[in-house]
Amino acid sequence: MKALRFDGEKLIFENSFAKPVTPAGEALIRVLMAGICNTDIEITKGYMGFTGIPGHEFVGIVEEINAEDQSLLGKRVVGDINCACGNPDCEYCAQNLGRHCTNRTTLGIANRNGAFAEYLTLPVENLLVVPESVSNQTATLCEPLAAGFEILEQVNFSANDEVLIVGDGKLGLLINHAVSTTAAKITHVGKHPDKLELAKANGSQVVLLDQMPQKQYDIVIEATGSASGFNFSLLHTKPRGILVLKSTIASSQNIDMTSVVVNEITVVGSRCGLFQPAIDYLATGVDLSSIISDVFPFDKALEAFEAAKTKGAMKVMLSF
Ligand SMILES: [Zn+2]
Ligand SMILES: [Zn+2]
Repeated sequence: MKALRFDGEKLIFENSFAKPVTPAGEALIRVLMAGICNTDIEITKGYMGFTGIPGHEFVGIVEEINAEDQSLLGKRVVGDINCACGNPDCEYCAQNLGRHCTNRTTLGIANRNGAFAEYLTLPVENLLVVPESVSNQTATLCEPLAAGFEILEQVNFSANDEVLIVGDGKLGLLINHAVSTTAAKITHVGKHPDKLELAKANGSQVVLLDQMPQKQYDIVIEATGSASGFNFSLLHTKPRGILVLKSTIASSQNIDMTSVVVNEITVVGSRCGLFQPAIDYLATGVDLSSIISDVFPFDKALEAFEAAKTKGAMKVMLSF
């Protein structure tokens, strides 16, 4: 099969990579569409020390199932990227927290080949059927959108809460969609007037970074993808407020934790989320096409990666 492989130094487009053999309990999925994430770009800089096929945002067709239950055969699916060990003795799996299982593998990120290939395998239990009304492009946004919905599992949003979302990139905008399903009042701050327009169209107040007032918020969500986002976000969090961190940037930048202590701020780390709320939201017919900047045929995957790396790029997708 064709596959995009990272060898620890560079990405290589392979024309005859071995098609995966479907392990017990897993399904073989023919990839239809895959999205390039900032995490994939971080991987090419050494994030997680990953080598192999990256890619964790996808939609595909189940072509083979190595399990008794064949009900998903031929179905169009998306899949949770965290593959838990499932051992009843595992502290995390026993509590239904497989996403934190210490023996887990993660699609295209840790010890498991990912979606930048014609085929991938995932445990059957990770798969969810995509409603017919949801396009392949929209379905591919399910994984990063689920990461937005994860915040709703971790933090309670009430009508009295004033929320600040920091960062108007693709993740920030998907978070905006997730939080907009709550009653909280959202302000979205970013650097790009055109991207803030999308947050505005979704019902948020918007403000440009250089016009940001001194105001503080009950809940601040940091999604800038840059190390400086933390200090800015902290500055705008009310005493006793909640600061949610979404950026996976490995940085050793000095962070002044004094105000976390003095202002008794709760810092919440937030990563992947459950897919079902994201699929349900997509099935409402919401139009997320403005978050997608380009679709490349898979043969041009290397070019697509360059496009995804350009500053200000929105979601770049690969079509198979
Ligand atoms: Zn991602
Ligand atoms: Zn486990």
